[in-house]
Amino acid sequence: MSVEEPNLENGNASEAMAPESHKRNDYLHWDDYFMATSILSAKRSKDPVTQVGACIVDSQNRIVAIGYNGFPRNCSDDEFPWSKAKKGLDDYDPLEDKTMYVVHAEANAILNSNGASLTGTRLYTTLFPCNECTKLIIQSGISQILYLSDKYAEKPKYRASKRMLDAVGVTYKKHQPKQKEIIIDFDNFLLEDPNSSLGLSDLQL
Ligand SMILES: [Zn+2]
Repeated sequence: MSVEEPNLENGNASEAMAPESHKRNDYLHWDDYFMATSILSAKRSKDPVTQVGACIVDSQNRIVAIGYNGFPRNCSDDEFPWSKAKKGLDDYDPLEDKTMYVVHAEANAILNSNGASLTGTRLYTTLFPCNECTKLIIQSGISQILYLSDKYAEKPKYRASKRMLDAVGVTYKKHQPKQKEIIIDFDNFLLEDPNSSLGLSDLQL
């Protein structure tokens, strides 16, 4: 018996196999993967208070688009305001309020879909969509929403979202993560990745 062959005489064949010869069991579940993608997108946001990320996925589990909250293209992150203007203050200026300018993550994801049909797709978002994004979600044909947080559920905007979604049959549910955390450590990845030592000479072209 060669040393590469599993030793079937001493119990379970899978136990005898080298770990790299069979399927990993700790791979990412699809829903965790897409919600993690949304969280990663949120980390691109320059908003100092609220970072939201969204990811749109088709029925084949292909990512169609991603987005995060930010100003419109070429509206400078350094010139437009990131704060909310407070009514009642002497220097109150509604034009110095970020809500005038910020494009929400879900809207950006829809706009980033590059012309692809969104009919029947799922939207993963870190925060339940506001009423304005909900209008776009419905109009674009997205059929399901998975969200992490619904912290503004009692606010009229978000109640309006649910009223519209319920009326048209777009479903929504809170994402229940399969795993508690996903750590991305660039240094560790290079150390642990079994392919990291592959050079061009290893590729069979
Ligand atoms: Zn919104």
